Amino acid sequence: MSTTMVNINKNFGKFQALHHIDLTVKDGEFLAILGPSGCGKTTLLRLLAGFESPTDGTIEIDGKEAANSKKVIPPEQRNVSMVFQSFALWPHMNVREHIQFAMDYHRFVDKGWKGKSASRIEEVLQIVGLEKFEKRMPGELSGGQKQRVSLARAIAPEPKLLLMDEPLSNLDAELRMEMRHEIQKLHRLTKASILYVTHDQGEALAMADRIVVMNGGKIEQIGTPEDIYYHPETPFVATFVGKANLFEGRWKNSSFSHVDSPVVWEDDGFSKQLKDKNIYPLRPEQINLSHPSDKQLTGKIITKQFQGKEYHYSIDINGKIIVAHLPLQEQFQIGQHVAITPRKHGDGSLASEIGNPNE
Ligand code: ATP
Repeated sequence: MSTTMVNINKNFGKFQALHHIDLTVKDGEFLAILGPSGCGKTTLLRLLAGFESPTDGTIEIDGKEAANSKKVIPPEQRNVSMVFQSFALWPHMNVREHIQFAMDYHRFVDKGWKGKSASRIEEVLQIVGLEKFEKRMPGELSGGQKQRVSLARAIAPEPKLLLMDEPLSNLDAELRMEMRHEIQKLHRLTKASILYVTHDQGEALAMADRIVVMNGGKIEQIGTPEDIYYHPETPFVATFVGKANLFEGRWKNSSFSHVDSPVVWEDDGFSKQLKDKNIYPLRPEQINLSHPSDKQLTGKIITKQFQGKEYHYSIDINGKIIVAHLPLQEQFQIGQHVAITPRKHGDGSLASEIGNPNE
């Protein structure tokens, strides 16, 4: 059964951290909450975990009411586990004891596993690849191993909902990539719903079934990674997820007249919100540069960076800087004047277009 938040507001004193949040996590779904620092991601997760209570609205977890403004079911009765960015391990407990403690805390034996907790611990140790480390104390583990303990502890009581708060941000870049695969594998094995908080769009795009983009305590857009990336509904989503350049001008029917030139660009399925704000978004890889001729939008190349399979250019258009990524064979030089035109949306695969979204 699904988990839902209906019309949730959360105030801390006079400050409203969450505004009218309506959200459904489908059974077995991997849902990423993506947004910048301070947008309310952790607050949303803490409401689901039961560490905070909503100011208004209701929360249902696995079909049962978990909270409203008057009543809050405590964390241990929610069938929910949480994985923290800081690992949150207890220094006096070894790996095995961490898992045992979590199972006791969530009354694992009540789930029909009486007498089977030892075999469940073995199973979980194997899932996270820590079979040989069960007696180690946290101080004797690497960062990656600590996060595996924290994952083991979370999945051991078989929660219906697994909450993850930036679980990879304390790991180095290589380990982060490896752990993305591990967490996806773990999702397949446990079949739990996952709510995964991150400010890293690469992580959200790579792992989630759907992404919720948040900004300033509000939901900006909910959709599949492809939807969010190719069809951003708001300027914020276009820039935060796709690092889009926002060109200003005027939309009339399906034509966009640029503010800095007589050039007209055609619609490419943009949202009403973008059009109402008179914006034409283009991600760096959606920009074409060429030698200028009449009646084109032009700019001057300010910087050029070699990036292995492409060059990244910054271009000054009447004082506004835009960024373009071009294949190696399409080379331009610093100081050169160029014409800027859109490439078609959806050219190339999602994976190759995203490239390295952490840049
Ligand atoms: P980050 O990515 O930096 O962790 P976040 O998106 O998770 O940020 P939250 O931690 O949910 O953001 O915080 C949202 C807002 O609510 C912030 O402005 C924060 O200062 C405020 N806030 C969070 N907890 C409290 C609290 N206990 N008391 C007062 N304000 C709070």
